[in-house]
Order: sequence, then structure tokens, then C-alpha cells
Amino acid sequence: MPLLMHFCNLMMRPIQEFYSQLPINQPVVITTHQKPDGDAMGSSLGLFHMLKALGTDVTVISPTNWARFLNWMPGCEHVLDFEANRAKAQQLIKSAGYIFCLDFNTLSRTRNMAQPIAQSSAQKILIDHHQQPEVEAFSFGESNTSKSSTCEMVYDFIVESGYGELINESIAQCLYAGLMTDTGSFRFPSAGASVHKMVARLKETGFSHSKVHEEIYDNFSESRLRFIGHALLNRMSVMYELNTALMYISKKDLLDYEIKTGDTEGLVNYLLTIEGIRLGAIVVDRDEERKWSFRSKGNFDVNTFARKHFEGGGHFNAAGGRSSKSLEDTKQDFLEVIQQYQSALNN
Ligand code: 5GP
Ligand code: MN
Repeated sequence: MPLLMHFCNLMMRPIQEFYSQLPINQPVVITTHQKPDGDAMGSSLGLFHMLKALGTDVTVISPTNWARFLNWMPGCEHVLDFEANRAKAQQLIKSAGYIFCLDFNTLSRTRNMAQPIAQSSAQKILIDHHQQPEVEAFSFGESNTSKSSTCEMVYDFIVESGYGELINESIAQCLYAGLMTDTGSFRFPSAGASVHKMVARLKETGFSHSKVHEEIYDNFSESRLRFIGHALLNRMSVMYELNTALMYISKKDLLDYEIKTGDTEGLVNYLLTIEGIRLGAIVVDRDEERKWSFRSKGNFDVNTFARKHFEGGGHFNAAGGRSSKSLEDTKQDFLEVIQQYQSALNN
């Protein structure tokens, strides 16, 4: 193979070069990261509705189950859970002409789907806003860390490809959900003018933003609220010399309070509400691994921190990671490595 061609195969081509392939007349799979959040599910279903309107045979496959508070999204009832429907999902991935990969940028984030996706001959299209994409895995795509959310990028995709008139109430609800959750309800610096212009355009469809807010934030069990009380009272430690707060959740806590997928989301944000705290970390003792969430304020880079110490990654101020050690040992690891960052956390 000539060197240049070989090089081209390794390059992810800009998403704009993909637009001429719309509408797609081959089967399409849309997928996202494991345990999808509002942005992952919202962007997948927003794109699903657009492609459906163009007559494409399209299926959304989630690598795992998802939080109950996402079930209201139009189209969610058609989303296939890979873990629960392996044979069917594997067949769809194998026979797809295109696989859209939304809100993640390394195949490992799709857990058990990573291998079937890598082996599929489909063209893979990335739309994502996390740092350090695995570009060699994708044929086309856009990776833009300055974007508020993948939902904003799917909105850009629909408008820039010339199909803006397809944006209806269903698409608006889905895309608004991810925009809202990934910007912390429009409070993060990423909620700039383009975000607010997008909201104005979505509002023209007549969808109710209050309803989206209620569906996502006011839809939990009593037990989950009591669990938050327990976690704040009994599972949090604050290290003022490091401007850091740490929280842990044991397996017993998860059982005692009947904690379901999605119920621990957002807990880490409480840590940053303490005056002066620059780094918040929470570790949850899940069946398969110890799952870390990191949040920071200002110039402490949790993407690099998570990559370096906890096999993770994400954004500059919001990242996740994992450990296969025990809860006690991974907490100890955190307490040890954090000492190296005393000066970074104090300026
Ligand atoms: P969360 O703490 O809400 O689970 O994740 C924060 C951000 O980091 C999200 O954008 C999420 O997609 C990303 N993230 C979470 N866990 C991981 C991980 O294990 N690896 C990578 N690369 N990103 C992660
Ligand atoms: Mn996102």
C-alpha cells in the first residue's frame, strides 16, 4: 500500500466530508458509552430521530442498562441493551454499514461492545467532546473539547448537514436533556452563546423545558434522597490542606438504600460546594469494579489525573476512572497519590 494511502486510513476524516453520504440507505447503529447519562442517551436519540425521518434503518444500542430517569425520552423504548440482547445486538453491529459513536472516544468505554465494534466492517463515525480521542478507530468524525455536550454537536450535525428543518419536539427534548445535564443546568463555562442560541431554536418547536428538568431531576425514590443524607453525613472526608474532598460508597450502602443505575450521579458535585474545595472525588464499590468520579474547579486537570492514576479520562474539570483493587485499597491509593498535588491544589 502506498505510504500516503496507509496514512489516510489512519486519519479520521472531518465530519463535513460525511454529509454528502446522507440520507444513508444502509443499516445504521448508534451507540454511546456504558451506563449512558443524559448527554449520551439524548444525543443518541436526537440523531436516531433525524436518521429515522430520513428513512434510514437505524437502531440505538447501549452497552449496558441506564438510569430510569432517562426512560421518558422519545424513542428510549426502542433502545437495545447490549448486555440483555447480545445475539441481536451483535448481528446488528456486524451487518451495519455505519456505526455512530457518540459521547465517548475510546472503544473501551463501550465495555463488551468494544470487540464487536472493532471487528465490524462498518464505517465508524465519532461525534464527541472528550479529550484525547482514539482517532485511528474512526473513519469520520468530530472531536471538539470546546463543545458543551455531544447533544450540541448532534444539533450542529443536523443543521450543518442541511436538515435543520427536521428538528421537531422529540429531537428538541432529547437534545435539550443532554445540553442541560452536561452544562450543570447552564452554569458551567461551556454554556456559551452557541448553547443559548441552540436552546432558543429548540424552544421554537414548542417543547417544555420544565418537563425535561422535572423528568431528570425530580424523579427519584425517597430512599435515594436518604442515601444522599447518609453519604454526606457518614462517607465524606475533607482534606483542607489539599483543598480536596473524598467520598466513598460501599456495596452495603448500595444495597441498604436500594441504589439503582444513575442514583449516584451528581453526588460528587456536592463536594465542590464546600468553600475552597478544588477537587472532589467519589468512589463507588460496584460489582465489577471500583468506579471513580472526579470533579475540579479552576486549573486542576482531572482528565490527566484520572488517566495517570485510575485508568480513566474525560474532561479537564470532570472525569472518571476505575480500579480493580478493593474499596479500601483504591481509597488508600488516592490518598497517597494526591499528596503529589499539594502545590497544584493550593495555587
Ligand atoms: P462521571 O464522573 O459523570 O461518570 O464522568 C465524568 C466524565 O468523564 C464524563 O464525561 C464521562 O464520559 C467521562 N468518564 C467517566 N469514566 C470514564 C472512564 O473510565 N474513562 C474515560 N476515558 N472517561 C470517563
Ligand atoms: Mn457528554
